[in-house]
Amino acid sequence: MKIRNCLNPSQPCFSFEFFPPKTDAGVASLLRTVEELAPLNPGFVSVTYGAGGSTRDRTVDLVTHIKKHTGIEAMAHLTCVGHDRDELRDVLRRLDAARIENLLLLRGDPPQGQQTYEPVPGGFRYAEELVRFVREEDFNFCLGGACYPEGHVETASREDDLKHLKAKVDAGMDFVVTQLFFDNAFYFDFVERARRAGINVPIVPGIMPITNYEQVQRFTRMCGATVPMRLALQMERVKDQPDAVVQLGVAHATVQCMELLARGVPGIHFYTLNKSPATRMIVSALRARS
Ligand code: FAD
Repeated sequence: MKIRNCLNPSQPCFSFEFFPPKTDAGVASLLRTVEELAPLNPGFVSVTYGAGGSTRDRTVDLVTHIKKHTGIEAMAHLTCVGHDRDELRDVLRRLDAARIENLLLLRGDPPQGQQTYEPVPGGFRYAEELVRFVREEDFNFCLGGACYPEGHVETASREDDLKHLKAKVDAGMDFVVTQLFFDNAFYFDFVERARRAGINVPIVPGIMPITNYEQVQRFTRMCGATVPMRLALQMERVKDQPDAVVQLGVAHATVQCMELLARGVPGIHFYTLNKSPATRMIVSALRARS
């Protein structure tokens, strides 16, 4: 199933993102999480692509396994980091042979220890070039990409970022998924600006339920997402009570999702961090209200 066909404001789909664990025990635990989330009937799940090494093969193995053994549509992320064209073609062939139909194409972040992103010789500088490459090769993937309601951390301005997003979409993207955000105003404003700029593909909001105070601080530092003052103060007050942090995170994300659904989003993509409880609570609450 091509994901572009299940992104529909009149019947929005929920999707869940996982990352490839480093160990076999981690993989077993992730597969249990997938099983726990399967009864929620996600439109699709996705597995991120690591910076290098064995987790990259795990992305391919995991999406293949999930699609084959659970019947859930599984999308592989793929980045430009450290790959030249021949290596990328090889990964694409493996995914195609495994009947994976959907890819999220990204530039990727600079590997650890590097301040700025540099392509390897024969590789790509921007996700747009990777999209063009996949479209020029003889594949029939449905392609998604990333977008940034608050602007990408490296961009000089949100206008430039939007211009680059338009070029990336025009190169052949079917949909985009947003970076996480905690204030829906950023998403609604972004969608309005994107439509004005002529970007017409579905823009799927990415939601991360907060389950850990330190983790959310680390993530927001990395990706530049704003934590609204009220939420930050509430977090600060309960930061030493893990259960209360989860409750607060789930409540905040549920309210965010209710408003997004009420205003006609085509789907909601949950950054699960390989754990099921928070996402399960949110989706169950949303289904109970619909
Ligand atoms: P691009 O679209 O290439 O943009 C990168 C920067 O370059 C932006 O600032 C953009 O404005 C600028 N730019 C683009 N085109 C041009 C141009 N022609 N001229 C000048 N500037 C330009 N990372 C991983 O490593 N693995 C993953 O699996 C992964 N999954 C993700 C999933 C989602 C939904 C999101 C939102 C992010 C994900 N990331 C992942 C993180 C992502 O790789 C980083 O945010 C990365 O820094 C940018 O990737 P991109 O594809 O958005 O890059």
